[in-house]
Amino acid sequence: MNSNDFMKDADKHLIHVYNRFPVIFEKGEGVYLYDTDGKKYLDFGSGIGVMAFGYGDKEYSDALKSQIDKITHTSNLFYHEPLLPAAEKVCQISGMDRVFFTNSGAEAIEGALKTAKKYAYKRRGKGNYEVIAMNHSFHGRTVGAVSVTGTDHYREPFYPLMDGAEFADFNDLDSVKKLVNKNTCAMITETVQGEGGVTPATKEFMQGLRQICDENDLLLIIDEIQCGMGRTGTTFAFEQYGVKPDILTTAKALGGGVPVGAFLVTEKVASDSLEPGDHGSTYGGNPLVLTAVNKSIDIIEGRKLPEHVKETTPYFESILDSFVEKYPFVKGHRGLGFMQGLIIDEKIPVGEILNKALSKGLVLLSAEGNLIRFLPPLIMGKSGFDEMNKKLSEVLDEFQ
Ligand SMILES: *Cc1c(COP(=O)(O)O)cnc(C)c1O
Repeated sequence: MNSNDFMKDADKHLIHVYNRFPVIFEKGEGVYLYDTDGKKYLDFGSGIGVMAFGYGDKEYSDALKSQIDKITHTSNLFYHEPLLPAAEKVCQISGMDRVFFTNSGAEAIEGALKTAKKYAYKRRGKGNYEVIAMNHSFHGRTVGAVSVTGTDHYREPFYPLMDGAEFADFNDLDSVKKLVNKNTCAMITETVQGEGGVTPATKEFMQGLRQICDENDLLLIIDEIQCGMGRTGTTFAFEQYGVKPDILTTAKALGGGVPVGAFLVTEKVASDSLEPGDHGSTYGGNPLVLTAVNKSIDIIEGRKLPEHVKETTPYFESILDSFVEKYPFVKGHRGLGFMQGLIIDEKIPVGEILNKALSKGLVLLSAEGNLIRFLPPLIMGKSGFDEMNKKLSEVLDEFQ
């Protein structure tokens, strides 16, 4: 079957919520993807930040294969072998005390919201359910997660959503302070906003949130589903801000390609929130995905990928600087580590740039605000950045 027929037939059966790029990927190796015609693509999207150590890592796939031969699922009514090391490792790398494993990022957010509500309910009784979220945030597509997502068009068709979500402006502490009242139980923010525009929080903002939470017995939920697991040059981005969350969410790179997420809490929160019967998941943290988590953490930490990101970021940013210098329609860039956005003048739709890049064998993403979003695998080396520079320059030349 030719590729066009394949895509046309697939679109007949799929619910149309994605405008997919016209490519059928077959396999990957390192930082490269290959389509069904054998064409090679340099990957600067890593499956939206998931493929932290690239494609086809032998150590990772051998571990998964051998787990598949043993057992893939038990339910959470039982212990299983990968459970202890995975729980230990994810607590150790995050500095948190306890974890619940989920099947996705959105589910990690759901768990975080339920934990915060239960904490407030236990300590202060009914009615303390308001959550302060940020404009331009992104926390996922389930009803609870979308309720705290700060982009109107993601929420509006689905009203009424979860009650009590209030929106402040990211990096504007005063706008947060104005929303705090006796019904508030928590605030939720990304450390670096991803979908909403690749915007890092300021230190002042994160530390200010921490302070407001401490003063009012509110819980600080930090969503590092996209920016965590080494992407910004430290295992978690919050480490660079001198703050610690009460509840942390992670997913995307956590499992190196299998669907898994987690929410983690401090002992203080754990001892005063969810109890047996309050939460659960049939699949959450099954032996297969936790084998992946164990290997992913071993690889990301063992191969010092956060350090590699930190060392290579100046080189990456110098390439982005050169785009800003060379092309008048490139307005600037922002981000942290291997999570960067290039701001394109509204006159040029970013989608056109991405499609042209794809036909030249370069995978890029977009973000809110007409941004080209770069989320390369954390193993990307200087030669990969050079190749991206060459390919993207050729594309941008066409828009001069
Ligand atoms: C992707 C993402 C989510 C949602 O994760 P899913 O696995 O798609 O449900 C939540 N928060 C942030 C910051 C994300 O980037």
